[in-house]
Amino acid sequence: LKVAVPKEIFPGEKRVSLSPTGAALLQKNGISVFVEEDAGTWAGYSNADYAKNGATVTSVDDVFNADVLLKIRPPTELEVSKLKSGGTLISFIHPGQNKKLLDALTKTDKTVFAMDCVPRISRAQVFDALSSMANIAGYRAVIEAANHFGRFFTGQITAAGKVPPAKVLVIGGGVAGLSAIGTARGMGAVVRGFDTRAAVKEHVESLGAQFLTVNIKEDGEGGGGYAKEMSKEFIEAEMKLFAEQCKDVDIIITTALIPGKRAPVLITEEMIKSMKPGSVVVDLAAESGGNIETTRPGEVHTKHGVTHIGFTDLPSRLPTQSSELYSNNIAKFLLHLGKDKTFFVNEDDEVARGALVVHEGQLKWPPPPINFP
Ligand code: NAD
Repeated sequence: LKVAVPKEIFPGEKRVSLSPTGAALLQKNGISVFVEEDAGTWAGYSNADYAKNGATVTSVDDVFNADVLLKIRPPTELEVSKLKSGGTLISFIHPGQNKKLLDALTKTDKTVFAMDCVPRISRAQVFDALSSMANIAGYRAVIEAANHFGRFFTGQITAAGKVPPAKVLVIGGGVAGLSAIGTARGMGAVVRGFDTRAAVKEHVESLGAQFLTVNIKEDGEGGGGYAKEMSKEFIEAEMKLFAEQCKDVDIIITTALIPGKRAPVLITEEMIKSMKPGSVVVDLAAESGGNIETTRPGEVHTKHGVTHIGFTDLPSRLPTQSSELYSNNIAKFLLHLGKDKTFFVNEDDEVARGALVVHEGQLKWPPPPINFP
């Protein structure tokens, strides 16, 4: 089996889908690995690193001739057209948001697995690239906030005077939110967290943060650990809470998402106006419509004295870490698909079936529902 790794061509993308360690793992399992020249440069992996780990460093044309192509960003039209006839692609696809891409893929004889569609069940956790990337995004959100904040995170008593700790509010306690809470706590900030799912309270408190609540009995649990859309009354109550918090905190990191829906707007321009000058907000939901009314996706800007960070490429801003974790997710997923050094599509396996988007040109998305453990 020939597996290949192209250089990611999305503007500014610094990650690579397979690290030299991942290449070694696949080689050890009888798979030949081909890596496009300089594919890993931005992530800190040289051509020599791949060669040392048994991979063949080669040209882009050779790479697209492989049986299985490993990518991170959904393929462009040109990349789809270059895929080998009968070949397989494993990548982020986001089929719900990429109808044009699905149309292009179903006009071919290719097979496509989406890393973002791997079922989030316990036995598939090792392949869960969404969680790997969300963890990094949460960490990086705090680093970006700290970089744009004019004070320390931790409180200090110095000869020159007493410095109070920064106050951080994290909205949404999924993978990214919890990672942000842990990072901000590690840097010494006073941290508060909020989520619509009651189960999150325990996780927030275990990280040493305060869990905020509203006075309405409604749980946000929508099934499989995911959130559901909340009632108008609940959203109003939480926004009232955030309006109060905005006057007090220095930094807000928002991560509230509902699968398949536009992200809820939870911080209005009026609330931003009430924040202290020099405050920083980071909107991790920027790509899904934004939790903050005044976010500009992909940009950093200042409005009403508050720095807004709307980056949509936070994992790529930590390219070595994200490539290392994604590589582990995708290499183990590939090994899971095959058996005894062969590769095949087993639709009876719920992990493979969940991630299968196109099979030999036939649309397979959305998959049948599975039972969450
Ligand atoms: P996500 O990125 O889809 O959403 C982020 C968070 O936003 C969620 O915690 C959600 O409850 C919250 N949210 C939604 N609307 C909100 C609102 N109006 N106000 C405040 N918060 C709001 O979530 P995610 O990080 O992908 O994961 C969600 C959950 O999925 C996890 O906590 C976990 O239970 C489950 N999960 C399970 C596995 C597994 O393999 N078993 C892996 C990953 C995640």
